[in-house]
Amino acid sequence: MTTPGWFRRGWRLLLTLLLRSPLCYLGALWIEKQRRTLEPEGRPLDALTRTALNGFFDRDTLECVRTVAAASIEEPRWLGWVRRLGLPMDFTLSQAAGVTYGDLILVANPVTQDNPSVAKEPDVALLFHELVHVVQYRALGLHGFLHTYVGGWIAADFRYLDIPLEIEAYRLEERFRTSPSEMFSVEAEIRERLRSQTVPEP
Ligand SMILES: [Zn+2]
Repeated sequence: MTTPGWFRRGWRLLLTLLLRSPLCYLGALWIEKQRRTLEPEGRPLDALTRTALNGFFDRDTLECVRTVAAASIEEPRWLGWVRRLGLPMDFTLSQAAGVTYGDLILVANPVTQDNPSVAKEPDVALLFHELVHVVQYRALGLHGFLHTYVGGWIAADFRYLDIPLEIEAYRLEERFRTSPSEMFSVEAEIRERLRSQTVPEP
């Protein structure tokens, strides 16, 4: 038996009403705490990465961003509580390759046994993806970003790859991966998308 459409829509609306504000509030607290803790370790992009990404991002974006390499990405404890509600979440922050908090990019860089002391440089395409999120944060503001991200996540029935802000980041990342020498402005793409409002309001 399939669940009727009206029931799914009603259930999603209820979840949005119940969960969006608390998750945005907890998310903002978490991001601010992480930024305070990690900012002192933040490094600007190296010259090679900047050259590879120059022309895709404004110079200001490439200059403001800081990266931190961590053995693994910490997940807030409350995300575990949300998971225990039985929601069909397919996403674990601790298994992510990278995460962006404003203009701070945290990259998972597990120390391997072969090379315990040398930190691997993060993949440029991964940084490209995270930089798209930096531009989204700058365009929407912290609260606007969280509101859109969390709302999109609930509307996508908690499937990470169907979150509209992730779809946009993966689409632009793929364009870069396919043709790394064919430049386009990520800022202009995002401004244009915001103008035409193609990220649906759940
Ligand atoms: Zn992403």
